[in-house]
Amino acid sequence: MATNLKIDGDRLWRSLMEMAKIGATEKGGNCRLALSDLDREGRQLFIGWAQQAGCTIGVDRMGNIFARRAGRNDALPPVLTGSHLDTQPTGGRFDGVFGVLAGLEVVRSLNDAGFETEAPIEVVVWTNEEGSRFPPPMIGSGVFAGVFDLAYGLDRPDLEGKTIGQELARIGFAGDRPCGGRPVGAYFEAHIEQGPILEAEAKTVGVVTGAQGQRWYEITVTGQEAHAGPTPMTRRRDALVGAARMIDAVNRIGHDHAPYACATVGFAQVSPNSRNTIPGKVFFTVDFRHPADATLSAMDRVLRDDCARIAAASGLEVDVKEFWYFPPTPFDHDCVAAVRGAAAGAGYPHMDIISGAGHDAVYMARVAPTAMVFVPCENGISHNEVENARPEDLAAGCDVLLQAIVARANAPVR
Ligand SMILES: [Zn+2]
Repeated sequence: MATNLKIDGDRLWRSLMEMAKIGATEKGGNCRLALSDLDREGRQLFIGWAQQAGCTIGVDRMGNIFARRAGRNDALPPVLTGSHLDTQPTGGRFDGVFGVLAGLEVVRSLNDAGFETEAPIEVVVWTNEEGSRFPPPMIGSGVFAGVFDLAYGLDRPDLEGKTIGQELARIGFAGDRPCGGRPVGAYFEAHIEQGPILEAEAKTVGVVTGAQGQRWYEITVTGQEAHAGPTPMTRRRDALVGAARMIDAVNRIGHDHAPYACATVGFAQVSPNSRNTIPGKVFFTVDFRHPADATLSAMDRVLRDDCARIAAASGLEVDVKEFWYFPPTPFDHDCVAAVRGAAAGAGYPHMDIISGAGHDAVYMARVAPTAMVFVPCENGISHNEVENARPEDLAAGCDVLLQAIVARANAPVR
């Protein structure tokens, strides 16, 4: 499958640094909130580059941008690659941007080599991946994949009440193409890992085999408020003590399902939250993640049993409400194999890895054969201005992306 094609790592790095000037922050990060004036500037810079590379540009109703390089058989479904240009308010220079500009670098490299692919290639910029300005995240790819309908997507408001539809019109990106509903041959997304595993294992490339499933809960523990002085220890129904034991149980459930499980309590409210009153009520959230649905279900059972047992032993009531469920998303076997083959063929140290975060690829996996390429990021940190990645790792990830795309575009599934 290996070709003599090579990407230009310096050109990729220069483009990343040029894009990073738009919305640059003092600490070396980026702030390009979705559909802001800075997002428009970033989109226009990308479109200019893509046009120089001979691509034709299409924009759909959700403002997703598609830069298309024709194939020898242009009627074949395109191989899509890309990610997002929007960032968190204190975001970094690589999250999302790397996937978009790696896709552009693939096109530029194919042009340099005069290499035609059988199927067309499209580099896509998805709208509002971060969900920071307009919740929920991954809305552009979500509408494309039919997870949300178009009206829902366009109506999402920011904190000031401005909607995605209004802001798309304001910045000139309310496109006229239908969002989704067309065949896609395959989807490949390159991304920084946003976790510490590749760095710790000294691997250059992560072959992403899928994304974790998630179960989120809201738990309310009810006891009885009473005066902290006159109430003897034996007569208390302290909701906070019960909640503390349950939180400890959540943490233990995570450790008991190592190495892939994650279990987090990130939000808690104590009522009445007064220093000389025994707490009568505690509300807290639980976030469980694991790549295997069966394990997530097992974690669910232990959580419910532990909460009921702890409540009963402490004279408390507990309500465990499942708030959100997102099933594990295995990526396409052949696309994953194309990524693994490309990494092995080029001799890059690589390993299989599961994505801990959500990505546009997770929604695209519902409508197209999908895979992702991860590269390490410094200390596993992202969604932070100090987010950093090494030029040689980004070049390696882009090179793998090129080989995987060419393999797929030249052996399209008809
Ligand atoms: Zn991202």
